[in-house]
This record gives sequence, C-alpha cells and structure tokens, in this order.
Amino acid sequence: MDSTGVQGKAEELVEEHELCDHCLGRQFARLGHGLENWERGLIVQEFLSGEEDLDEDSFVRENIPDKEPQRDSCELCEGLFSDLEHYVERVLNALERYDYDSFLIGTRPPSGVIHEEEELWEEAGLDWVEPLKGELNRLIGKRIEEETDTEVDFERADVNPVYDVGKDRVEVQVNSLLVHGSYSKYSREIPQTKWPCGNCRGSGCEECDWTGKQYQRSVEELIAEPFLEATRAVKSKFHGAGREDVDARCLAEREFVLEIEEPEERDIDLEELEEAINGNEEIEVYDLEFTEKDKVEEVKTKRSDKRYRALIELEEEVGDGKLDELEGLLGTVEQATPTRVEHRRADKTREREVKDVEWERKGPSTVELEVEAEAGTYIKELISGDKDKTEPSVAQLLDTGAECKELDVVWIED
Ligand SMILES: [Zn+2]
Ligand SMILES: [Zn+2]
Repeated sequence: MDSTGVQGKAEELVEEHELCDHCLGRQFARLGHGLENWERGLIVQEFLSGEEDLDEDSFVRENIPDKEPQRDSCELCEGLFSDLEHYVERVLNALERYDYDSFLIGTRPPSGVIHEEEELWEEAGLDWVEPLKGELNRLIGKRIEEETDTEVDFERADVNPVYDVGKDRVEVQVNSLLVHGSYSKYSREIPQTKWPCGNCRGSGCEECDWTGKQYQRSVEELIAEPFLEATRAVKSKFHGAGREDVDARCLAEREFVLEIEEPEERDIDLEELEEAINGNEEIEVYDLEFTEKDKVEEVKTKRSDKRYRALIELEEEVGDGKLDELEGLLGTVEQATPTRVEHRRADKTREREVKDVEWERKGPSTVELEVEAEAGTYIKELISGDKDKTEPSVAQLLDTGAECKELDVVWIED
C-alpha cells in the first residue's frame, strides 16, 4: 500500500458513491488506532477538499475536523447509523428484566444493506475494510456500557442480545447460571432426577394423580426449586457425578452441577439457598459455588471408586466359617448387564475391581457388608449374583440366595 493508494481509493469512493461518514470511514477501518469509522470518514472528506494528500498516516486524532458527521444520506446503509440511539434503547429495553454483568451484542443488518456492502467491496477492494455489522455491534456495545454498569465480554457473556435492524426486534439469548456442589441423600424413596410417570410418560393420569410423576420429589427438584425461585428461571438441568438407586441412600457427598436456564436474576446468595435446601430431612447440600460450563462434562465423566454398606438377607443360615468365603469378592468381578437395566442398556460383560470387603453378622441370616469398588460396579448384583450374570457374588460364595435389603453409599473418592 502506498500513499497514492489511499488517496486514489478515497477519491474513487467519494466520486462514484454517496456514502455517509460511517460507511466511507469503514472502508479505511484498519488505518489508524483508536478512531471510530465516522471520524475516519471526516478525515477523508477533509483531506479530499484540501491540498495535502491522504495517506496511511493521515488517520490520527488531530486530523479530525471539528464537524458533525454526515449520517443521513448513504446508498450503502440508507442512513442506518442515524438511528443508533433507537437501537440502543431497544436493546436496553429487551435486557431490562435480566440481571447481567456482561453482554455481547449481535446485529442483523437488513439483507439489502449487506448486499450493497458486498458489491462495494467487489468494486473498491477489501484492503482496509471492516464489515458494517462489526461497526454496528461495537457502537451499540459501547453505548450499552455507558448506560449500564456492565461490560462487553467476548468469551462468556451473561446475555447475548441480537438486534434485527429490519424487523426492529431484539432476541435475547441468556446464558445459563451454573452452580457446583455436593449432596447427600437420606431417603430411600426419592430418585436423583425427575422421574416421569411410567404410565402416562409425564402428561398426567389417574395412576400418578395427574402429577405426571412417578415420584413426587427428587434430589434434582429439591435442589432446583429454591434456585428457580431466586433466579426467576423456569427451567434447570441437573448433572450428577453418577447416581444412586432410588432406594439407596447416599451418605457420602456426591458432586453435581445445577444448570439454571435463562435466569433473570444472577446475583443470588448461595449460603442462603444452601440453608433453604437443607431445611428438609431428605437431602443435604454442601459447598455450593458458581462454576463454568466445562464443569458439567468434568462432573458427568468422573469415575470415582465408592464404598457401599449393604444389609443382606440370606435365604439360609450360614456359619461363621462359611462367611469367611466373602473374602472371595476381592479382586476382579465379571458383571453382565443386570437384568433390571437390560431394557435400557446394551448387553455386555464388564470387569470391575473390588478393592476392599468387610462384613459383620447382624443375625442368623443377616449380614452387613461393606464393599469398596471401582466406579460402575453393580452392588445389588454383586450380592444376588443376578442368575450368575455377576461372578463371583455373595450368593455364589455362600451357596445360598442373597438379597440386598438396604444399600448406602458411604464414601466417594474425591
Ligand atoms: Zn452509510
Ligand atoms: Zn401418569
């Protein structure tokens, strides 16, 4: 690029096109620092009407003439930049109901304008241009920053308003609020997540008393409800680090991420919410903290060893010497997909490691067993044998039927 290049391009643009100062200046957007395009436009006009030639070094603040930019008549944008304050107002109105610290503006200029812009580029070249959209986003963004106590964030903004110029409409995409924590579950009657009625699949029927739910409460709902109220959100997703069966307690602390969708309020008091949730006897939550999206994947894919305590009822009485056979659970266990989950899991055999086993007799045919095992071990089947689909098993080692009557998760590896 030489100086005649800049001068020549400017002359050509002004002679052959009617451009506002924004659109004229935008063709030189890469020249000079800290200037707005309309300031570049004013510089171009000033140089073309003067003696001195325009070059790359002309785009500096002291060269901006003390004039109001021309915004009204423009074959490219059709005067779009003169309505900037209206766009700002529309965006601010759309964001009013949301609490946000950061935002990222998007705009949709009318398709005719985009077309005009492309034609001009084809004709005049692309050396120093910025797309109109980029300028519009920046100008609206700056004004929103001025009007609110918030800032533009390109990485992860709380809200993403998109202004459609032609339709004069704003769509707001609100980013989820994510909370990480752990929970314990003290009830044998609630599932981890919402469970739709098996009969009506959630639409409501006589069997579920028109609630659409198989279980009236879940860990998910007990945690989410106070959050939905505090954030005035309608929906949430619950991501647990594994799950226990409905009838199993989790006395250990199991990690989760609660994803609150489209929150209107973000400035919430986690300690207060923790207290509100812990006011019930069924669950308890700990260490609530705000987190980011990548935590969801991390929590969902966590493979932690766990320790379980099971109360086992044996079909026949077993002598103390025989109980010592339970030592045989240690080591590798082969588990085919359990009968109870066959309908929703692929049938395959997995190997799992049992790392510790302890037992205590509780009655003539009652045994309490503690097992520490690798992630994904099916404990109820490790006890019953599930028709020899799990080997070894308590039933197999003791030569009698064995059933898990109560199961607790007592430790989860961190
Ligand atoms: Zn224009
Ligand atoms: Zn139902």
